[in-house]
Amino acid sequence: MTDRRGDDVKHEPAGTAEIAVPTQEALEAHLAPYAARSAQSRGRRYPEAAPSARTEFQRDRDRIVRSTAFRRLEYKTQVFVNHEGDLFRTRLTHSLEVAQIARSVARNLRVNEDLVEAISLAHDLGHTPFGHAGQDALNECMREHGGFEHNLQSLAVVDDLEEHYGAFNGLNLCFETREGILKHCSRENARRLGALGERFLQGRQPSIEAQIANVADEIAYNNHDVDDGLRSGLLTVEQLAEVELWQTHYETARRDYPQIEGRRLIHETVRRIINTLIVDLIDATRLNLIRHAPASLDDVRSAPALVAHSETVAAQAAALKRFLFKNLYRHYRVMRMANKARRVVVGLFDAFTDDPRLLPPSYQSTDAAQQPRLIAHYIAGMTDRYAVKEYQRLFVIEDN
Ligand code: MG
Repeated sequence: MTDRRGDDVKHEPAGTAEIAVPTQEALEAHLAPYAARSAQSRGRRYPEAAPSARTEFQRDRDRIVRSTAFRRLEYKTQVFVNHEGDLFRTRLTHSLEVAQIARSVARNLRVNEDLVEAISLAHDLGHTPFGHAGQDALNECMREHGGFEHNLQSLAVVDDLEEHYGAFNGLNLCFETREGILKHCSRENARRLGALGERFLQGRQPSIEAQIANVADEIAYNNHDVDDGLRSGLLTVEQLAEVELWQTHYETARRDYPQIEGRRLIHETVRRIINTLIVDLIDATRLNLIRHAPASLDDVRSAPALVAHSETVAAQAAALKRFLFKNLYRHYRVMRMANKARRVVVGLFDAFTDDPRLLPPSYQSTDAAQQPRLIAHYIAGMTDRYAVKEYQRLFVIEDN
């Protein structure tokens, strides 16, 4: 821009200093000393220049949201298969609820919200179609070939399977995000995973952020499974009366709003349970933080698990979980679905193993020892409906 004399004029409006792009340190300056910090990350597998205008963990979150595996979560079963109804949770809405709960907890404890969000949104990326039934079936198929475990598969997705970037396979996420995704791991796999597996061998903890995402996962599914269980008619309000956590809040909701019933009363109850669990988690964790006084992320790793419910609420949450296991996850209609899912997964696996030429070329291997893992990657990546279609393409001869 020039003025009337033709001289260059710098166009700098008043107050520019205040709206200058903040550094990563400035964006995370409010965090507690025990929080994970982008600037102190243990880094990415392939070094990259620091991002501008966002932190390293924000960049991870952004990459996860834009991944193919993330979009597939919309069509993957949580408990109810996708076609059973439009209102049941899918892996996608489950992951969003986990992120929402985890962020609330993280903000209260002044730890890294961007990191908990990244971990929460990525934690189920490796799930097979058809929920746990799909994973169990694939694990059985892979028994002789190293097994199949959805945590490890989520890691495989972000480390290798996504094909988005010129310089590397996978999403090249930060160590701390990958650590949070790998919730469980056998000692055998831990040895194979190097730095990421170390904590399982040494009995150390992951970051507070990873611990929060883990408990938020449980809070989310315990509550939405009650909600979906009631919506589907597989559970009844009368049955739930035996669950203290439910009954306490059901009664207060009825007392506060005597005129409401049905879905509205259920929602009033569930939201109170979620709130109780979140507030208890924050309070009990705060006490643990005071007791152990971690001064750094490294102290968090050496301490016992710091993110936990109080004893009373932990027992109540465990009772709810047991109720769901007995009455919902083992309900005959859920078992029928699981049985069908097993047939599809095992059928696909066997057909591809018998003749790998039936696979899309990118999943065919010239190394016979590698072939089962590629088949597992292919099946794990499928959405519910894609798996059903693929099964029909392989086994059903249509006469039209
Ligand atoms: Mg989950």
